[in-house]
Amino acid sequence: KRIKGNYKYELGELASTLNYMAQEIVRSNQIKDDFISSISHELRTPLTGIKGWSETLTSGGFDPAETKIGVGIIAKETDRLIGLVEEILDFSKLQQNEMKLVITRVNLKEILQEIMLNVWAKAEQKQIQLKLDDKTNRTVFVTADGNRLKQVFLNIVDNAIKFSNENSWIELVLRITDNHQVLVEVIDSGIGISEEHLKKVKDRFFQVNHQGGGTGLGLAISQQLVELHNGQMDINSELGVGTTVSVMLPLLELTEADDVPGQGDN
Ligand code: ADP
Repeated sequence: KRIKGNYKYELGELASTLNYMAQEIVRSNQIKDDFISSISHELRTPLTGIKGWSETLTSGGFDPAETKIGVGIIAKETDRLIGLVEEILDFSKLQQNEMKLVITRVNLKEILQEIMLNVWAKAEQKQIQLKLDDKTNRTVFVTADGNRLKQVFLNIVDNAIKFSNENSWIELVLRITDNHQVLVEVIDSGIGISEEHLKKVKDRFFQVNHQGGGTGLGLAISQQLVELHNGQMDINSELGVGTTVSVMLPLLELTEADDVPGQGDN
């Protein structure tokens, strides 16, 4: 009797597991369908611009200034297309566990300063103030692929600019936590994300809105890259107040501010 009872119980459990798996498959298929339709749209927009301008220019009769504008748009849209395709390739590499990192010792503050320089002009256009608040007052080293870390922070700061209003501010805070981790927070005072949509943003692929365009893969790629570095990424947000994206990485070494190992009397 007891055996029969257990058997029944196991069958019930198996049925609910299968049911759950079936629902998950339907859900992930839906996410993939949404993704394919949004990515196709994103790819088509620059292609339409390129096609339009190349046809127009081929028809001839333009002065050099007009030609320059047309060629400039073709170049810009081509860059956008390359960026989109690279995002898709990165994402697929990460999914298939094929992302290779080139690990060295990386000065994290230097990376953040480079990012700030990189996005300075974009922030200026919207009169957004960019600040770096270094709470460590030291030189912070992590073991990382410097280019990939740049990609992560560039994506986060780019989003912060994209989803901020004019005359606002974005702050990058660098600190060391009690458990020997490096924490970088990118805090913006932008449009924020509602609670309901934040869940979906965390759920890969999803895009809250198509403002500014994009694949909706940026954060997913960043999160996976941070995890490949044995770190953690999190996002908190309040609609109308702002968003904070935090990246935690294992600390390799902390030295006095100007005392870079290998260059001084270390
Ligand atoms: P993309 O920027 O290509 O759309 P991301 O993965 O980088 O993709 O971001 C996904 C979505 O999360 C964005 O479309 C946006 O709706 C939301 N988001 C990301 N960062 C912010 C931010 N700082 N403020 C408000 N919304 C954000």
